[in-house]
Amino acid sequence: MRNMWMGAAALALAISATAPAAAQALGGEVEKQMPSLMAIYKDFHANPELSFMEVRSAGILAAEARKLGFKVTEKVGGTGVVAVMENGPGPVVMVRADMDGLPVTEQTGLPGASKVRVTTKEGVETGVMHACGHDTHMTAWIGVARLMAANKAKWSGTLVMIGQPAEERGAGARMMLEDGLYTRFPKPEYALAFHDAAQFPAGQIGYTPGYALANVDSVDVTVKGVGGHGAYPQTTKDPIVLASRIVGSLQTLVSREVSPLDSAVVTVGSFHSGAKHNIISDEAKLQLTVRSYSDEVRDHLLDGIARIAKGEAIAAGMPDDKMPVVTVQKDEYTPATFNTPAFTEEMAAFLKTGFGEKRVVQMPPVMGGEDFSRFGREDKNIKSLIVWVGGVPQVEYDAAKKEGRTLPSLHSPFWAPDAPAVISTATEALTSMAMKLMAKG
Ligand SMILES: [Zn+2]
Ligand SMILES: [Zn+2]
Repeated sequence: MRNMWMGAAALALAISATAPAAAQALGGEVEKQMPSLMAIYKDFHANPELSFMEVRSAGILAAEARKLGFKVTEKVGGTGVVAVMENGPGPVVMVRADMDGLPVTEQTGLPGASKVRVTTKEGVETGVMHACGHDTHMTAWIGVARLMAANKAKWSGTLVMIGQPAEERGAGARMMLEDGLYTRFPKPEYALAFHDAAQFPAGQIGYTPGYALANVDSVDVTVKGVGGHGAYPQTTKDPIVLASRIVGSLQTLVSREVSPLDSAVVTVGSFHSGAKHNIISDEAKLQLTVRSYSDEVRDHLLDGIARIAKGEAIAAGMPDDKMPVVTVQKDEYTPATFNTPAFTEEMAAFLKTGFGEKRVVQMPPVMGGEDFSRFGREDKNIKSLIVWVGGVPQVEYDAAKKEGRTLPSLHSPFWAPDAPAVISTATEALTSMAMKLMAKG
């Protein structure tokens, strides 16, 4: 990727020199908000909360929106927040931020690093960190709410701002929808969001028309065997050998059964069995992550996993009552994120007028997942767009490139975004898109 970043101050100057009047005015308003927004960001960053537990974060979003004159409803789909501002006739535009942190112990060593530790439901003690940058999402959400409230005279329509729980568990969007997000509140014609990006420079905006992020499925395979003494394998059915065959055969799903022009991933991320050198266990457990874009490829992969597991068990001579048990974790399925193509191109062209051609770039799709997808899938009339906002500090980006070093990804304990650049860029991008969609006259 070409380096197009110029440094925050230089960028601000470049923008004010070339951008149209409207973008200039908004840029100035964002700058004025930044000291206050950064104080809020530091608070969010130091106090991350795990999925389904975002009580404090939700409270901050709700209180801010209430102060600004939004009608606020809390506890929608768990800890979700819905803030509605009705401002005359016009379209309904939804802006979403997700709120959860991750069970990651922060290792950035920065002042203000999270020191929060919790014991999870599974009994594991862990640090908690906003390693996916949802703290920047919530902060920019507040920035957008403030700017939209301050500029009420310039737009007409209904703004629905939502704070979503449990994105990292792929459950929060579904829970908000099931709790009546589109029936108890105005249903959007447009859904907007952003995600910070750990692979390109701070302040860049990335957009991907069509499929942008993948279908994500978690699959558990319990492989049964017949245990016994390690010295007498002929009296057993070894589940480790069988599970190993299954892992090997699973590799052919993507390489031999999916078209080379389609994208798919089958990764066995966990393989557990046995307790001691000389005991053949009676069970092996596999945990898989399965990724795709289209529903057809997804169905093929999930059916294929079940077929291969059973086929290998038959080949190993397992009796009918000891076939592997394949469980697809339905509650944690994240559907592929699809940015409405024409709408995405239209918004990208608009963003280029404000931010300049070089700061708004098309990005290839990735195999990560985002449950923002659900808000658009609910009704095909909804035009949906999530953009990336680059967060890698320029110095770090340049150094990594020079040294051929891999940058820390999202979810890394070392992920330290240039928060002011992410927050100011995202606030301005989302506000200007919402105002464009609800422009008066
Ligand atoms: Zn994440
Ligand atoms: Zn995320």
